[in-house]
Amino acid sequence: MTATIIDGKAFAARVREKVGVHAARLHSEHGLIPGLAVVLVGEDPASAVYVKNKGIQTQAAGMNSYEHKLPADTTEQTLLALIARLNADPAVHGILVQLPLPAHLNADLVINAIDPAKDVDGFHISNVGLLGTGQKAMVPCTPLGCLMMLRDHLGDLSGMNAVVVGRSNIVGKPMAQLLLGESCTVTIAHSRTRDLPEVCRRADILVAAVGRPEMIPGDWVKPGATVIDVGINRIERDGKSRLVGDVHFASAVQVAGAITPVPGGVGPMTIACLLANTVTACCRAHGLPEPEGLTA
Ligand code: NDP
Repeated sequence: MTATIIDGKAFAARVREKVGVHAARLHSEHGLIPGLAVVLVGEDPASAVYVKNKGIQTQAAGMNSYEHKLPADTTEQTLLALIARLNADPAVHGILVQLPLPAHLNADLVINAIDPAKDVDGFHISNVGLLGTGQKAMVPCTPLGCLMMLRDHLGDLSGMNAVVVGRSNIVGKPMAQLLLGESCTVTIAHSRTRDLPEVCRRADILVAAVGRPEMIPGDWVKPGATVIDVGINRIERDGKSRLVGDVHFASAVQVAGAITPVPGGVGPMTIACLLANTVTACCRAHGLPEPEGLTA
């Protein structure tokens, strides 16, 4: 058997198109333009590339992008003052502080200073609590993208055994909460899990968010399972630098029912979901109906 490849690039393009249609409607019917403010502190080259891509895609979806680039030695006071201004600015519906922050800045303090209604990354403690208690939250972008792909591929997820490998606050834990919200039976595995291969083999849905190149081979995958590979790992192979996931794709594709590739799987969905969250935040701020299919 060879698995269906879940094309995250094409799926993300459809999400961005939906976002664009909704943004255009907000403009024509309500005179609103959703606005996303991205704050970058320091000169980390990878972060600078992400921020640039976010700005380009935000504008391409017909929304306003506001970039705030601050020097690496910015004080906490200056950063918090900027966040307070963005919180109060009615043209800004979403605020994202690019992580990681330089070590002298307290990331928890900074994230929790964002108005939860504008916290399009879904990292504010209020949104974590809302998600955990099954209430309407801003949902972290990467797990939201995984959920959208799972719903699209499988339809009703209820009753399925889902295993999430990884328990980080940005991927593993919110992913598990979302799957619980879909009435899956959820197991969260991590570095201390006993007999991980056997735990993985029970999964109808296997989500890998570990950060270890090709750690999960095909013989850990239940035949016919849906595999979502969140991992992005750069390795050297045959003298070339390339990206691989946390799943050993070549062997898993022989066993799974469906699988996301790396690159071109979960990765492109993250920014698409950031745009979706910005439109959602704009709708909520104005008491308007939320776009269908773009929220959890
Ligand atoms: P973290 O490093 O924060 O978390 C990794 C998790 O994996 C931890 O819970 C850790 O367990 C667990 N883990 C580590 N080693 C093992 C092991 N041998 N067996 C079982 N579990 C293990 O990573 P993130 O969640 O931030 O990211 C995970 C991956 O996803 C990375 O490759 C990252 O690049 C990628 N990513 C991709 C995104 C996208 O847009 N597609 C967005 C965000 C992340 P423990 O808690 O016990 O230490």
